[in-house]
Amino acid sequence: MSDSSKHLSTDLIHHPYKPPAGFEAIPPAVHKASTVIFPSVAALRARDWKHKTGYTYGLHGTPTTFTLEERIASLEGGKFCTLVPSGLAAVVLVGMALLRAGDEVLIPDNAYGPNKAFAQGELAAWGITHRMYNPMDPADLAARLGPKTRLVWLEAPGSITLEFPDLPKLVAAVKSHPQAHAQGIVTALDNTWGAGVAFNAFDLGVDISVQALTKYPSGGADVLMGSVVTNNESLHHLMHFCHMRVGFGVAGNDAELVLRGLNSMALRYAAQDAATRVLASWLQRQPQVAAVLHPALAGSPGHEAWKRDCSAAACLMSIVFRPEFSQEQVDHFCDSLKLFKLGYSWAGPMSLCAPYDIPALRTTTTWPHKGGLVRFSVGLEAVPDLQADLAQALAAMQYSKG
Ligand SMILES: *Cc1c(COP(=O)(O)O)cnc(C)c1O
Repeated sequence: MSDSSKHLSTDLIHHPYKPPAGFEAIPPAVHKASTVIFPSVAALRARDWKHKTGYTYGLHGTPTTFTLEERIASLEGGKFCTLVPSGLAAVVLVGMALLRAGDEVLIPDNAYGPNKAFAQGELAAWGITHRMYNPMDPADLAARLGPKTRLVWLEAPGSITLEFPDLPKLVAAVKSHPQAHAQGIVTALDNTWGAGVAFNAFDLGVDISVQALTKYPSGGADVLMGSVVTNNESLHHLMHFCHMRVGFGVAGNDAELVLRGLNSMALRYAAQDAATRVLASWLQRQPQVAAVLHPALAGSPGHEAWKRDCSAAACLMSIVFRPEFSQEQVDHFCDSLKLFKLGYSWAGPMSLCAPYDIPALRTTTTWPHKGGLVRFSVGLEAVPDLQADLAQALAAMQYSKG
């Protein structure tokens, strides 16, 4: 075939122009592909999708996704990273790569809800059982490890209620189980909160760290993505092969958004951390509030472990109202907020909140509070404006009908 045929459609597609090499800019280039073109049949036969030495198909990686994988691995202090289309897909990939019929997975009672839902749905249907454990009690975890245990999930702090567990003790409880090695029990941490900034998951002994890149690494509330990072090459191979078989690839434009967000991530983390602590201590002094849950506050569950293991805290805090306020009043508080919008997810530019019914989410632990709970994600707005918004909503609630 010649480079220039007599047919427009062919010429439009097989155009001979090549831009000059040597263009360099600050952002990495965005490569988008399903098909990857091979220079020869020999190259097509020789190239292996498993190695980052070449390209075979868009699903298995492009220069853009390889770049993001390497940066996320470094961010977490790990060696190998696999990108997936959402944070939840990262949790699912770990489960699908490791668990087989007859195995059991242990999940903290305060875990991210969809992790439990995946266990109750697909894993149960595939003959894989699950048990919840109390993450604030390493002895409870030790007692629940059994002959079928293959995977132990960790999360720091708990989703919504923000108890900070003693991760080294939980990992030690798993590793000291007499059958831990024979059964190949793996620990996997949902590290979305720490994000590779607040602490190094691998220093604390975990085998796998997953993140919703949707949160801090993106920071824009505009993209969904997840990562699975490990230092263990054979675990990485299990993740990578499963990823190849299930087709959990990510797109170049989405990778670009996360790469762009990474530039400002450390600054955003620090700014949102500082803002959240100011608002958390202010909320502690408000008469309507029975408890503020934030691991950096003395007295918040797991504060000592947080202080020992972390150098920062994320932008999440929850408050529990005094029990005399009805759920209708708590709902009215949320509806009265103007800058804090109602919605899920967090670590974006806009402050968010959502009410939660915690007792309905617990199975093995008892929730000590009676009042309604609201979780906040503090965004990048000015702190005095956010505090004024909370103050006016507390006043609106106080005088609403219970
Ligand atoms: C948001 C979140 C996830 C899931 O991330 P998505 O990208 O929304 O699927 C997982 N774990 C935690 C702790 C999260 O906050």
